[in-house]
Amino acid sequence: HILHTAKFLKSAGSLRDMPADSGREVAFAGRSNAGKSSALNALASHKGLARVSKTPGRTQLLNVFSIDDERRLVDLPGYGYAKVPVGVRDQWRGMVDGYLRHREALKGLVLIMDSRHPLKDFDRQMLDYAAAIAKPCHVLLTKADKMSRGEAARTLAEVRKALAEDAAAPAAVSVQLFSATAKTGLEEARNVIAGWLDL
Ligand code: GDP
Repeated sequence: HILHTAKFLKSAGSLRDMPADSGREVAFAGRSNAGKSSALNALASHKGLARVSKTPGRTQLLNVFSIDDERRLVDLPGYGYAKVPVGVRDQWRGMVDGYLRHREALKGLVLIMDSRHPLKDFDRQMLDYAAAIAKPCHVLLTKADKMSRGEAARTLAEVRKALAEDAAAPAAVSVQLFSATAKTGLEEARNVIAGWLDL
């Protein structure tokens, strides 16, 4: 599959540290503990890939993975309920804000939510961003293995309905069930990402 060549490229502490704004990028966002690192690892079939995103001191950085010279995945900091001083949090908010608003290479946002706790404030903020910058957003409802099939199907339908009824949601938004543990939903997610990366 298309993401298996993903390799850690760098951690950027500011937008100036980011690779040149050319080619195509897909960004990953999610609240802390939603399952973002596990999803990245599963999508790339590379267990240790996103470990770097968890390295103390790197959780607040933009962690960049390259697929090839023209294509990258960018792991955004998940500032869900981080116990950090407000000043520090504002600094990464500023960085993520600047990245989302100004990055031309950014072609789509993958938003990871724990399927048992979808659409929290952080998720709503990210959906607002996607709408504001007019870029597509694909939602992975992960840890679906922790639910029965019935519950999972109900959750999927509820989230889809909530987004369809939300006038502020991005025009291009899609939602799927996912599990890094059970390896379900991989093909569907890879196909969306491949489309954005023009692969
Ligand atoms: P992150 O903080 O968003 O990067 O979250 P992690 O990927 O580190 O996952 C947080 C916790 O959820 C860890 O204990 C993972 O093992 C667990 N987890 C992540 N994805 C899944 C999944 O698909 N199924 C289950 N059962 N657990 C998961």
